[in-house]
Amino acid sequence: MERCPYSKKCSGCQLQNLTYKEQLQLKQVKMIRLLGRFCHVKEIIGMETPFNYRNKSQYAFTYKNGRILSGIYQSTTQKVVEVKNCMLEDKCAEGIVQTVRKLLLKYKLKAYDLHTQKGFVRHVLVRKGFKSGEIMVVIVTADGEFLSKEDFTRDLTNIHKEITTVVWNVNPTDTPLFLGKNNTALYGKGYITDELCGLNFRISPNSFYQVNSLQAEVLYSIAKDCSRLTGNETVLDAYCGTGTIGLTMANKAKRIIGVELNCDATNDAKANAALNHIENATFYNEDAGEFMTKLAKKKETIDVVIADPPRAGCSKEFLKSLTALYPKRVVYISCNLETLERDLSILSKAGYNVRSIQPVDMFPYTNHIECVVRLERKSN
Ligand code: SAH
Repeated sequence: MERCPYSKKCSGCQLQNLTYKEQLQLKQVKMIRLLGRFCHVKEIIGMETPFNYRNKSQYAFTYKNGRILSGIYQSTTQKVVEVKNCMLEDKCAEGIVQTVRKLLLKYKLKAYDLHTQKGFVRHVLVRKGFKSGEIMVVIVTADGEFLSKEDFTRDLTNIHKEITTVVWNVNPTDTPLFLGKNNTALYGKGYITDELCGLNFRISPNSFYQVNSLQAEVLYSIAKDCSRLTGNETVLDAYCGTGTIGLTMANKAKRIIGVELNCDATNDAKANAALNHIENATFYNEDAGEFMTKLAKKKETIDVVIADPPRAGCSKEFLKSLTALYPKRVVYISCNLETLERDLSILSKAGYNVRSIQPVDMFPYTNHIECVVRLERKSN
């Protein structure tokens, strides 16, 4: 049974034909097959209402018979597929994207065409604070002058009073759906603030933020439980993004050290510590592997490492220094089972036992799987 008329062309929901229960079963089986040899895999935690959970939407623009249309960019075909009322996204995005499309026409702004490399507006990103309701709209363009940006922004925010900030981002390279480094706030603060696990977080356009806020709270509370903090531990939050995980653990730890490669996210993390009056957290803007190596050289004492790397998993350097530091506990949060399996094998050989594996369904209707793994050092 297909729920979405665009499913075949869009292919964003790979599990479209399965009921939600079947999807969870499929993910559970996959988890057991790949990771069952390490430890028992707990039952996956699903969502009560697995729709409209995405707090982030990205739409590209293109031309069809002289008309501008908006849709999902497909990396496989390099085409824009027109999609309306996506069942995974927050409902706020649809109207805003359609208005942006109309304003492109009104202000004679050209959509950027990857094939001819002509045009100006590449895509639009809409992010919503799930609890705060704050909405950020990022207009991503090629290099050049954004003529009539004041009028464009005034119209957009007049039509959509719910928008709290509009940002102009310049991406000079042909990397579809990516943001460039340069942001200019055209309206509002230039970021949104949202609440997760009782804390407030500032999120800038280029910072990573879990797309499923409801399940992120579940994920973070499991990670906190797995950390088994008593108040005396020094915790390293590696690949920390805007500091969300470490900061939610700060009241149970002696000290939190966060490391993150993205400069904007690190600045958000520092601001988030201050925003929540947390004084025992420090954040560093560095490559996690290099940072770990320095800690290992200095023979720092780290009690718990939280690792939440991107899909590529942890770097070899990171894992090598982690095992040199030999913290008593590692909590590994992963969005890619293949790299997780690789890294768990390395850590198992280097003196760790995998003690628990808890999958959380962060991405219903897609085949992505997320899980939290607790590893304990073998010797004490
Ligand atoms: N823990 C955060 C972010 C997880 S996403 C959260 O839950 O929100 C992974 C993060 O790793 C991203 O913020 C990304 O910018 C960062 N990252 C990617 N490569 C990195 C590296 N080599 N060193 C440190 N951080 C890195």
